[in-house]
Amino acid sequence: MLDKVLIANRGEIALRIQRACRELGIKTVAVHSTADATQKHVLLADETVCIGPPQSKDSYLNMPAIISAAEVTDAVAIHPGYGFLSENADFAERCESSGFVFIGPTPDLIRMMGDKVSAIQAMKKAGVPCVPGSDGLLPDEPDECLRIARSIGYPIIIKASGGGGGRGMRVVHTEASLLNSIHMTKAEAGAAFGNDEVYMEKFLEKPRHIEFQVLADNHGNAVHLFERDCSMQRRHQKVIEEAPAPGITHEQRMTMGERCAEACRTLGYRNAGTFEFLYENGEFFFIEMNTRLQVEHPVTEMITGIDIVKEQIRVANGDKLSFTQDEIKLRGHAFECRINAEDPKTFMPSPGTVDTWHPPGGPGIRVDSHLYSGYAVPPYYDSMIGKLISYGEDRDTAIARMNSALHELFIDGIKTNTLLHKEIFQHAAFKAGGTDIHYLERRLGLS
Ligand code: ADP
Repeated sequence: MLDKVLIANRGEIALRIQRACRELGIKTVAVHSTADATQKHVLLADETVCIGPPQSKDSYLNMPAIISAAEVTDAVAIHPGYGFLSENADFAERCESSGFVFIGPTPDLIRMMGDKVSAIQAMKKAGVPCVPGSDGLLPDEPDECLRIARSIGYPIIIKASGGGGGRGMRVVHTEASLLNSIHMTKAEAGAAFGNDEVYMEKFLEKPRHIEFQVLADNHGNAVHLFERDCSMQRRHQKVIEEAPAPGITHEQRMTMGERCAEACRTLGYRNAGTFEFLYENGEFFFIEMNTRLQVEHPVTEMITGIDIVKEQIRVANGDKLSFTQDEIKLRGHAFECRINAEDPKTFMPSPGTVDTWHPPGGPGIRVDSHLYSGYAVPPYYDSMIGKLISYGEDRDTAIARMNSALHELFIDGIKTNTLLHKEIFQHAAFKAGGTDIHYLERRLGLS
């Protein structure tokens, strides 16, 4: 077994990966910026290496510093977590060329899926349903763009092929604004992603976001771990996730899940991955594939009993998947609330020292967080400080437990969005299940 893993990340996910390593008897190397020397997983690691100053570009995105840290500590493998370098094909390549196992897919698959147009083309070939749209990149000829948009039908959405994180997209409702919108999206995409190529899709007005978790090994085996509903979003950022997705039939679940697993086999995909879909009027439309562990992986772990991080490490070690599709059983229901250090009304980040931290507990409650009393949340990184996860035999039980846990959770010293979660869990529409991706912004009066 890989006997020492370097964790190229920070925060709750670094701790999550460290826990999986410890269970497997694997030593961990924590790399950290100067701002993160007192993080929980750093304090608990077997070895630590400071890789640079606070700014991510100088530390968590600093490939030579991370590779050198792996070299000096004799790490065997590198787990990238999510965000930072997790979907950077060049980093995966550099890990491998330096002799380290990259715990994730092959660089070519990361590259293919990182480019949305090539991802869609690969999915179409593999029989995964996609949103009606331009067949590839938009051409330079304005008349041709107008013709394509007309054939799709308005409203349409222009998307940057190299986009990510909810950026590089523009909705167009009428033909009069099409060419100008294409021009602006290209300019923004060029500046933000260094790639000004764009494509066009039908804009779905009230879709839900439903995604399928897959796991694949190096021996041609691939399975799906059912789906998650991540429709509760603000500014394209997920706020609450649940599994399974309300109202999806067992047949839909198994059919779509198998299509995703089959696509993995066809493409030669390995390790963990997520197929993201928009779901509207009973149909699934692929939007993108995430070639890494997701923030919301715990809800899937709760309903399947499978430890996704341990499985990632095992398949990176060359092991076969430890179960077949038939052995994976869906049991119960789970929710995850992303707890952010931010003002619950203005959503402004609220870094600072946590004076008191009392996480909730009890049956079916899981807290994935690196917080402790006295920990100072630095201002340099994402504002997520933890995840509150609830499980129940059915959806109502999982809701009741989340309500109880949110009332028990006590964080003093910084502002958090706990109040927002408490409110959402009281909404009748949310409790009924199946709200669309614009629901939260409508409720917040943002759209
Ligand atoms: P990113 O990589 O930036 O997250 P995605 O392609 O996953 O980009 O899209 C992010 C979000 O944008 C989706 O979750 C959805 O809310 C919205 N979106 C993307 N494509 C469409 C579409 N064709 N119709 C409606 N909404 C869309």
